[in-house]
Amino acid sequence: MEQTLSIIKPDAVAKGFIGKIIDRFESNGLRIAGMKKLHLSTKQAEDFYAVHKDRPFYADLVKFMSSGPVVVMVLEGENAVLKNRELMGATNPKEADKGTIRADFAQSIEANAVHGSDSLENAKNEVAFFFDGHEIL
Ligand code: ADP
Ligand code: MG
Repeated sequence: MEQTLSIIKPDAVAKGFIGKIIDRFESNGLRIAGMKKLHLSTKQAEDFYAVHKDRPFYADLVKFMSSGPVVVMVLEGENAVLKNRELMGATNPKEADKGTIRADFAQSIEANAVHGSDSLENAKNEVAFFFDGHEIL
């Protein structure tokens, strides 16, 4: 069993896609082990995406991720990290496979509906960024 972090980003929350996106996880063997709705501060968004701080899109990404509420979740299941990445689709929704979350719910390479941890090690760090142990059930 693995755990991974998922974020439903401000674009998808604003468009009312929370339920539809969660259904993709629950229908594909990923259990919601923890969940909360948050409005990230600039500092939280900066820290969460610190790995991208030298990329040209970093400032815009931080602004976007703190522009409105998000839903953060701990997803649990077999191969949860990879399974979530497969369900999400490619970063650029125009390149995402048919039937993936980003193909169906995202607008642009920045406002791309969901975040998902990209490795087991990052998943552990990202889960710990948002959740205390007692919030994961
Ligand atoms: P992913 O979310 O698929 O793991 P990355 O980790 O490479 O993608 O990038 C993190 C986030 O930064 C993306 O989900 C997207 O919101 C934003 N982003 C990535 N590349 C670009 C880009 N070229 N222009 C604008 N925003 C981008
Ligand atoms: Mg990434």
